[in-house]
Amino acid sequence: MDTGLSSFVKKLPLITLPIHNIQEISRDTFIISFERTKEFLPGQVVALTLNESIPPRLYSICSSPDEFSITLLFSVKEGGILTPQLASLQKGDTVRVSGPFGAFLGDENPAWWIASGTGVAPYRSMMRSGLGVNKMLIHGGRTADSFYFHNEFLTAFGDNYVRCCSQEKGEGLYDGRLTQWLRNQSSLPAGNMYYLCGSAEMVVEVRDILISKGVGIEMIMSEIYF
Ligand SMILES: Cc1cc2nc3c(=O)[nH]c(=O)nc-3n(C[C@H](O)[C@H](O)[C@H](O)COP(=O)(O)OP(=O)(O)OC[C@H]3O[C@@H](n4cnc5c(N)ncnc54)[C@H](O)[C@@H]3O)c2cc1C
Repeated sequence: MDTGLSSFVKKLPLITLPIHNIQEISRDTFIISFERTKEFLPGQVVALTLNESIPPRLYSICSSPDEFSITLLFSVKEGGILTPQLASLQKGDTVRVSGPFGAFLGDENPAWWIASGTGVAPYRSMMRSGLGVNKMLIHGGRTADSFYFHNEFLTAFGDNYVRCCSQEKGEGLYDGRLTQWLRNQSSLPAGNMYYLCGSAEMVVEVRDILISKGVGIEMIMSEIYF
């Protein structure tokens, strides 16, 4: 039985658009772009598929609202239905895409942006929209090549960009999981918003850490990728 989000997503109207660009930016991780036919807010998602036989999946937009194209970041899931097929597409092939939606929205208030893996995508959209002021970006990944867009983030955030790498060491990388980095902080800024985006495991664990350190639940916004 379909319930909740998956039922909502299946009913979204989709349009067919040619791919402007598809590029592997890191091992098994791609950006894909197509025409922006509607306005959106930084942090929103689109539903995307290839054809009617595959239920659409959700992807955060990682481009800014004033760019001509919408760009998405996706990683190939081993044994997955859609992403291995997406990864084999080429410029000019088509995808089926919904309009943008979602309430995980950035704003100009001070915030910590926390992500695991491809969960960094909405923060790139927010940053490219001018919302990177007063922000700290904490990104967790397993390997040194999983810090997508790191050059852009380093330029924008400098010391306020923390890359937590759990399985490899490297220059500029914190050696450990982002949850460990958070636990090691003696205090967290009061009055900040905390945005969490990525796997359910990360979001649940980080939420617990933040609450244990005195952050109010109303200051935490989450976007879970499942
Ligand atoms: C709000 C939101 C935003 C998202 N944004 C992004 C984003 O920006 N970038 C991104 O990469 N992802 C994002 N996701 C995740 C994305 O929507 C998809 O879940 C993901 O891309 C699925 O890929 P797939 O279709 O290849 O895998 P699926 O076919 O959905 O499979 C996922 C995993 O489950 C396993 N699996 C599949 N069927 C079974 C089964 N019957 N039994 C056991 N295991 C099975 C597969 O082996 C695979 O490892 C987002 C999700 C949400 C909810």
